Amino acid sequence: MVEPQSLEKLISEFASLPGIGHKTARRLAYHMLSRSRERVVSLSESLLAAAEKVKPCSVCHVYTEVDPCPLCSSRAGAKIICVVEKSSDILPFENAGIYKGLYHVLGGVLSPLDGVGPEALYIPQLVDRVRKENISEVILALGSSPEADSTALLIDCLLEDTNVTRTRLARGIPMGSDLEFIDEITMLRAFESRVAL
Ligand SMILES: [Zn+2]
Repeated sequence: MVEPQSLEKLISEFASLPGIGHKTARRLAYHMLSRSRERVVSLSESLLAAAEKVKPCSVCHVYTEVDPCPLCSSRAGAKIICVVEKSSDILPFENAGIYKGLYHVLGGVLSPLDGVGPEALYIPQLVDRVRKENISEVILALGSSPEADSTALLIDCLLEDTNVTRTRLARGIPMGSDLEFIDEITMLRAFESRVAL
């Protein structure tokens, strides 16, 4: 099918997003053409504003518009750090209202096949925080995949010479599932029955 160049470009932009196949990308692009100019402008402005204003917090690396983020500011002095793979993984904790401690986003998990080694993640910064902020417990909430397990293992080793208690969420989170989409009840159970590493 021959499409105008700018439409083709829009389709390929949509198709580059996670979870969007070529068919859906085309449907979205055609939908945009039928939208009013105001709504298209509003969408593109929202995209730009989010990309420009939202940055990782310099302390915990959760996405924020103010640095340090409101979580770091309002919970300063807390002695528990919950370690997650990506910023959106804190949502099930915050939505369930089960946790009032600090967070630390790693920015991924170890994945040697994709070239993601420890130096590509915020692991040294975590070790630093545990020492400097006198943290008493580190909860590893990294989901359940072999990569997450080896990341947890590495962090456990690096924290071995500190007095910090290392725990992880109880099993019960389905294998390979994205923490971000875990329902509140499952998260609550996994959190409350967390186990020592
Ligand atoms: Zn923060």
